[in-house]
Amino acid sequence: MTADAYCPALVRLPTARERLPTVAVPTIALFTGALALGSFATWLSLVRQVPAWATVGLHTIAVVGMFVVLHECVHHSAGRLTWVNAVMGRLATPFVSAFGAFPAARHLHLHQHRHGREHLTAWDVRGPAWLLPLRWLTMDLWHVVTYLRRSDARPQLEVAEALAMLVLVPGTLVAVVGTGNAWSLFVVYLLPQRLALAALAWWYDWRPRRQAPGTRGYPEAHRRCPRLPFYRYPEAWQAEKAEAGPAAGEPAGEFHRLTVSEVRPLTSQAVLVTFDIPEELRAEFRFRPGQHVELRAVVDGEELRRRYAICSWPGEDRLGIAIKRVGRFSGYATGTLRPGDEIDVRPPAGGNALAPDSRHVVGLAAGIGIAPLLPMLAHALAAAPRARATLLYVNRRSEDTMFAAELTELARRFDGRLRVLHFRTDERDQDLRPARRPLPNIADALAICDERYYPGRLSAGQLRELLGRRLHPAKVDEWVLSAPADLAGVARNVLAEHHVPASAIHVEQFH
Ligand SMILES: Cc1cc2nc3c(=O)[nH]c(=O)nc-3n(C[C@H](O)[C@H](O)[C@H](O)COP(=O)(O)OP(=O)(O)OC[C@H]3O[C@@H](n4cnc5c(N)ncnc54)[C@H](O)[C@@H]3O)c2cc1C
Repeated sequence: MTADAYCPALVRLPTARERLPTVAVPTIALFTGALALGSFATWLSLVRQVPAWATVGLHTIAVVGMFVVLHECVHHSAGRLTWVNAVMGRLATPFVSAFGAFPAARHLHLHQHRHGREHLTAWDVRGPAWLLPLRWLTMDLWHVVTYLRRSDARPQLEVAEALAMLVLVPGTLVAVVGTGNAWSLFVVYLLPQRLALAALAWWYDWRPRRQAPGTRGYPEAHRRCPRLPFYRYPEAWQAEKAEAGPAAGEPAGEFHRLTVSEVRPLTSQAVLVTFDIPEELRAEFRFRPGQHVELRAVVDGEELRRRYAICSWPGEDRLGIAIKRVGRFSGYATGTLRPGDEIDVRPPAGGNALAPDSRHVVGLAAGIGIAPLLPMLAHALAAAPRARATLLYVNRRSEDTMFAAELTELARRFDGRLRVLHFRTDERDQDLRPARRPLPNIADALAICDERYYPGRLSAGQLRELLGRRLHPAKVDEWVLSAPADLAGVARNVLAEHHVPASAIHVEQFH
């Protein structure tokens, strides 16, 4: 389980995924300020005939301000309402680029976030040193070319808008040149825009790739927490400074010898191993749902260390882990380990954290992937009385389904706030018997029943259907994927299609 999109430092920020206001006033203020500054500089240039060198700087600052607004809208951070982001993004785009369209820019930028540091338009981050400034000056053109190359796979309306903007804005510029105002256009629009783009490409794209890994600053913080609005960055930096402790995924603390108190079969292949935590170690073994412990044991003469998700409740004096038999260590744990045995366990570490104010969390688990998800979802529901959770749980058949009874009990206890969709790949499974046959439409079924059973794998089509209705991205705050790479990949692609930001997706990895 490695923290994928989120850094723990930012997860703990109060601002990282807090609910946005309907409209973000600082973003509106920045838009208005940039517009006013640009208008003032234009007035100075055209009416007061102030020399170009004096006004170009002001215009450039105004373009940078508009870029920040555009960027906020791309990440849906300009307000909770989608149309606010769409309108403001469209208004800001022509100031930032003479060739760009907002939806196309949004697609390219989010695509880049989803694919990590590998740059979609690497043209402006690589190349001979003397050529780079020229590349930065024309960064938006390269983005347009990249978008057009991908346009076959993009929605028609989005492509149409990109093409329309490609004709409209440059066409207007040509018309202005035709009226004999080429120099004014150059000074108040073209030159400042190019300078701003070059500065942004250098600062935002090129420079971060040459800094040491872990260097703090806006680009790095943004990469880890893309939806954090620009006006909360001072807080982010303060919180990062205050942050101490091991990095994500790093084990914390020394091994301690713990006594196994119970080994309970979950399925024919998996067991729940429980340890008693002695009084003196309780503080060190305090954990939050989603964390894991590392176990160490000598198996067949060789010392092995393996990590296992914690599968119990915070505050308990016991710590449970679910282990599925696949190889040497898990074979030993499921076959040989008995109550009363002692084993070395390293205190809890790593793991993804759900935001305390999430209203709706969706988990996707397959098989043993339920181990970290079960406590995460249960804790989220217990901590926030109005929170909801939906679990999409894929297993071969009922006998392979871990924690099935616990899930039924949780669904009953949380009284409609937890919904579980079981997908059974063995279509002869007893839970798929006629009385439990799914309703024709998954979303309708979800609305009336807390637990449903579906034959077959969870397909991209089914996910799309869910995202189109009950699990619409606007109604879900966080997604946790705890499944093998192929299924997690399908889910990530479908979420990406629906513009779910990478920051809202946590991936639990078991290797
Ligand atoms: C953060 C984190 C959390 C995790 N949480 C859990 C959890 O909650 N529950 C859980 O069960 N696991 C979890 N894992 C995985 C766990 O750490 C081990 O990797 C897993 O138990 C396998 O270890 P092993 O020694 O049994 O397998 P290994 O012996 O290391 O084998 C690894 C792979 O090789 C294959 N293999 C082994 N022997 C053979 C053979 N003779 N022939 C062919 N193939 C073979 C196995 O099928 C397996 O796929 C987690 C991993 C991480 C990183």
